Amino acid sequence: MVAYFDNAATTPLRPEAVRAMVGWLEGHYGNSSGSHSVSRLARQAVEEGRQTLARALGAHPGEVIFTSGGTESDNLALSGVCDQRGGVPVCSSVEHHAVLGVVEDRKGRVSPVGLDGLIDLDALAATLCDVAAGGEEVAVVSVMLANNETGIIQPLAEVARVVRRLAPRAVLHTDAVQAFPWMDVAQLASPAQLVSVSAHKFGGPQGAGALVVRDGVRLVPLHKGGGQERDRRSGTHNVAGILGMAAAAQATVETRTETIRRVRAQRDRLVDGLLARVPDSIETGDRAFKTSGHAHLRFDGIQSEELLVVLDEAGICASAGSACASGALDPSHVLVAMGISPSQAMSSLRLSLGANTTEAEIDLALSVIPQAVSTLRARS
Ligand code: PLP
Repeated sequence: MVAYFDNAATTPLRPEAVRAMVGWLEGHYGNSSGSHSVSRLARQAVEEGRQTLARALGAHPGEVIFTSGGTESDNLALSGVCDQRGGVPVCSSVEHHAVLGVVEDRKGRVSPVGLDGLIDLDALAATLCDVAAGGEEVAVVSVMLANNETGIIQPLAEVARVVRRLAPRAVLHTDAVQAFPWMDVAQLASPAQLVSVSAHKFGGPQGAGALVVRDGVRLVPLHKGGGQERDRRSGTHNVAGILGMAAAAQATVETRTETIRRVRAQRDRLVDGLLARVPDSIETGDRAFKTSGHAHLRFDGIQSEELLVVLDEAGICASAGSACASGALDPSHVLVAMGISPSQAMSSLRLSLGANTTEAEIDLALSVIPQAVSTLRARS
């Protein structure tokens, strides 16, 4: 048996997504940019996918740009706005590297979070004022809805109020890549004018994503090419990917309340069980401010990378943080930003649950992890 606790890295495909994709791939192949009947069918499929996804995101179809995933959506949001308006980007210190990397490249500002992992709103206000005092303009502020490592949910409505007050011309972007399975993004991301999502985090295919661009916000595209997506994202549409993403989004929204209820109970049983069975274990962040699917713990005296190997041998797929960081020996920037020491950060374990998580997987984790931690501690 394999117990899969890495849904924050990627999720299994939902059957609705498989059906939508296979239904298209078997017998269809058109390029949606052409004008003949085969192309028209592809265009119709893309537009139907757009309508479905737009409903799930609380957007108008014309506000949805299809991309290759979360990384591209984040890059397009930040670079596109900065190139359009001039000015610098600002983001929180716990953003995914797809946001942080752009902010660093463009000599923007990174605003801190508190020890609770929530953005420090006073510090954000000070950051926005500093930029203005230095004679620069803030082009875009990016604060994620939910963090990929800890699951901590940011107070986006309050962030929006600070931005409106102190940098009224700035565009607000939120990376909702991790939030979508667990939060009503249509409503909770509504204060943001730009919203990134990625299909493979909610049961859709890898390599498909979207950026919502509201209120006529203008962007300079990342790519030069055929002018698809109303000149905002060139490149032939991934029709099957779009249909799979749209079907997965619809299924996620339709089942979200029930999934959250079930998975939150599983997550709580898992975390409470581990805290009770593993001495010197600490849960990262307050569960009241976390998605239902994220569990994040630190076990004093072990190295995450060693623990992951032992767990893998026992059939448990987990992660030490974000997928891109696993294998790297640097401590997680997210945990360090929360004031967690590098050595504590290196002893962390992320268990991310999903819509398919079973009670048997929780049982396996509860029986294997305490033993694995105690073996590693004895070794060191
Ligand atoms: N943003 C967040 C918060 C993520 O968790 C991820 C992926 O882990 C990304 C962006 C990048 O998404 P993608 O893998 O679709 O490029």
